[in-house]
Amino acid sequence: MGEQGRAAALVKRFGVAPIINAGGPNTLHAGSRPRDEVLAAMVEAAGLFFRMDELVLRAGEMIAAAVGAEAATVTAGAGSGLTLQSAAAITRGDPEKIARLPDTRRMPNELIIQRRHRFVYDHLYLTPGAKFVEVGDASGCVPDELEAAITDRTVGLIHLESSFKQGGSVPLPTLAEIAHRHDLPVLCDAASRLPPRSNLTKFLDEGADLVSFSGGKAVRGPQSTGILLGTKEWVEWARLNNAPNATVGRAMKVSREEIVGLVAAVEAFVAVDEAAEMAEYREQMQMIVDRISDIPGLRAVVEHNFDHVMPHAVAYLTPAWRGPSRETIHARLLAGTPRIYVSIFGVSDEIYVDPLNIQPGELEIVAQRFEEELRAAAAEG
Ligand SMILES: *Cc1c(COP(=O)(O)O)cnc(C)c1O
Repeated sequence: MGEQGRAAALVKRFGVAPIINAGGPNTLHAGSRPRDEVLAAMVEAAGLFFRMDELVLRAGEMIAAAVGAEAATVTAGAGSGLTLQSAAAITRGDPEKIARLPDTRRMPNELIIQRRHRFVYDHLYLTPGAKFVEVGDASGCVPDELEAAITDRTVGLIHLESSFKQGGSVPLPTLAEIAHRHDLPVLCDAASRLPPRSNLTKFLDEGADLVSFSGGKAVRGPQSTGILLGTKEWVEWARLNNAPNATVGRAMKVSREEIVGLVAAVEAFVAVDEAAEMAEYREQMQMIVDRISDIPGLRAVVEHNFDHVMPHAVAYLTPAWRGPSRETIHARLLAGTPRIYVSIFGVSDEIYVDPLNIQPGELEIVAQRFEEELRAAAAEG
């Protein structure tokens, strides 16, 4: 059986229809496609046994060297990285405290978070027994409000780096200056801020002590992996709370296959010529935009900016749009044959195509079905 025959057999056996992923690397839609180097490394690792503490330490050194950070460690998704950041802030390497988490009675355990940095996954910071102290309001936050919230119960300050967060926040360098004046760490979630690759060190340079990225998004490692970067001391304090130790991170185990797979992914990711990669994506997305730009009520454009980390073909539903909602269009594409996932994550009323997971041969299918659905929807109005 060839590769296609094996894939067809798997689909038949599971009875779950696969999708064409034209919406980007999020968890619900299976992340991204692991690079060939990643799968090869995983197969090799599966045949070997290691002392897992030794493997974790060495993998961290290799990732730090590849990205140019002081230190790194492997986590079970960026999500588990947030939990470990928080555990590090509470325990600061104290073995007794590490052993007691998530019981934080009689320990400082407060994390300061700006109201505008709250989002659906931030509870992962609470897993080790932390509490949030919220500052600012829906319209923003100023540095004085942050500083006034610091007490002897405070263990760290959170900074979210995401398109969910729209303006009005204390800039990271200012937040870091305040945190460090009080001997507190800055904990940063930048899970999906790759590319650009320069972000791997940008937030560290701006003063973050710990920064989490997903290994299963644009890095194209195993979907369940994450990268935690930072200073030597803070990364070590995070790692001490992680599996294989019998600690609060014990349920967030990463297998040896995933660990070596992630190292291979990071090394391959940083070796790519980003300008050439982005130019190719832009050309692909422009082809889609050209096909839909005359549809009434739509504004179609290739976007590559803070909200779109790589070139996306974006169809904005303008006030002149008379067709059904973006949710309806999204659902129709997902219910079609083949099933196609396009993103409706955008902060404005937009539907977009993300090139990262579009496989050879799929671009034309995506372009054609996207155009068809949008034309039919516009005609309904
Ligand atoms: C994707 C994402 C996460 C979770 O990352 P995983 O690697 O899936 O665990 C956390 N925070 C933000 C902002 C994200 O976009």
